[in-house]
Amino acid sequence: MHDHEALPMVPIRSARGVWLQAHDGKRYLDAISSWWVNLFGHAHPRLDAALREQIGTLEHVLLAGFTHTPAIELAERLVALAPNGLTRVQYADNGSSAVEIALKLAFHHCRNRGDAQRTQFIALAGGYHGETLGALSVTDIPLYRETYAPLLLTPLTAASPDASLAEPGESARDVAVRAADALDTLLAEHGASVCALIVEPLVQCAAGMRMHDPEYLRRARAACDRHGVVLIADEIAVGFGRTGTLFACEQAGISPDLMCLSKGLSGGYLPLSAVLATEAIYQSFYDEYTKLRAFLHSHSYTGNALGCRVALEVLNIFRDEPVLARNHALAAHLANAIAPLARHPQVRNLRQTGMIAAFDIVDAHGHAFDWRERRGLHVYRHGLERGVVLRPLGHTIYFMPPYCITPDEIDFMVGVAREGIELAIA
Ligand SMILES: *Cc1c(COP(=O)(O)O)cnc(C)c1O
Repeated sequence: MHDHEALPMVPIRSARGVWLQAHDGKRYLDAISSWWVNLFGHAHPRLDAALREQIGTLEHVLLAGFTHTPAIELAERLVALAPNGLTRVQYADNGSSAVEIALKLAFHHCRNRGDAQRTQFIALAGGYHGETLGALSVTDIPLYRETYAPLLLTPLTAASPDASLAEPGESARDVAVRAADALDTLLAEHGASVCALIVEPLVQCAAGMRMHDPEYLRRARAACDRHGVVLIADEIAVGFGRTGTLFACEQAGISPDLMCLSKGLSGGYLPLSAVLATEAIYQSFYDEYTKLRAFLHSHSYTGNALGCRVALEVLNIFRDEPVLARNHALAAHLANAIAPLARHPQVRNLRQTGMIAAFDIVDAHGHAFDWRERRGLHVYRHGLERGVVLRPLGHTIYFMPPYCITPDEIDFMVGVAREGIELAIA
């Protein structure tokens, strides 16, 4: 709130495509997809129409003892599209809730199969899974976590496979193998007390768009199998085409045991999330009521009909339009647009995975800026002046635009960021 004395919040009146329109008439290119939720742009005609049709038919009904067409169809379609083996869907209404569900399911599944001593989670260094207490427990971002540490579970922390941690001469794959070896060591020591490993496949977004080689996921999958540990893939930010495939796990050719989805699931329209589970996990809960094996977890707005209907239309757009092919072309354009930054003396770790691109700014000696310097704020402020919503994560500048961005708009967005970094490093 103190920041806003100098930098007032921007009141937005309307939005269309990649553009937000403020009350004073100024336009802003939404380069971060309104915090990674938007896929096809604001006020998308098909999503608007689907929602209009659902309003006036059924807005919501409790999902206990009752169900409805959008919830059923969406679950069927998600199962058909998801990595093999994920056959069951539990709905919730935001990403953190989906993570809470996945953590509870993993522990409870182990308990149901007679492994109640498995009470520990493993989370990755730099991981982010939301900010409710359970999700924050498996989040390793000190800024969000430290204040609440006395309230949180203490998971085991495994090394991040982040490619920017490469030692001289090491490839991204080498870092992934090194991190997977460290995970093996952790599991060898603690495996019998661990119920689940939770990862953000391919990109640790909130930590600063830290990207890793898919080899890590293959090895983590194998390690979880060897130790009877549930693998939770948190695809809340990376799902729905963001990384170049519909789901990031596809690039490693793996299936997790639980997969969390939210954000793009409903195209940036409504709060909705889902946890997909394997048949083995589902079956371990399936019993007579009095056996008390059931998963008792509910949210009032679970499986909301409006959210499910708009999510179905998101999947219809993926079905009817060559979204991934178009994204490949846009990602190639974005790669070209940012390429000159690789030669900038105060830019490090230029990186990209599909429709996410990022780089870090450093001081004149090539060292990281102290976080208190808040150099990213200069980029943010300059972006607002020029009409681009850039919201650096500390000293990491990133682009994560809606898929309807044009090549010209990409050039504009990157150009404004380049101006911004000159102000930030000055
Ligand atoms: C945003 C995010 C969450 C939390 O989702 P919310 O809807 O904000 O609670 C969890 N995991 C990842 C990877 C995210 O990016």
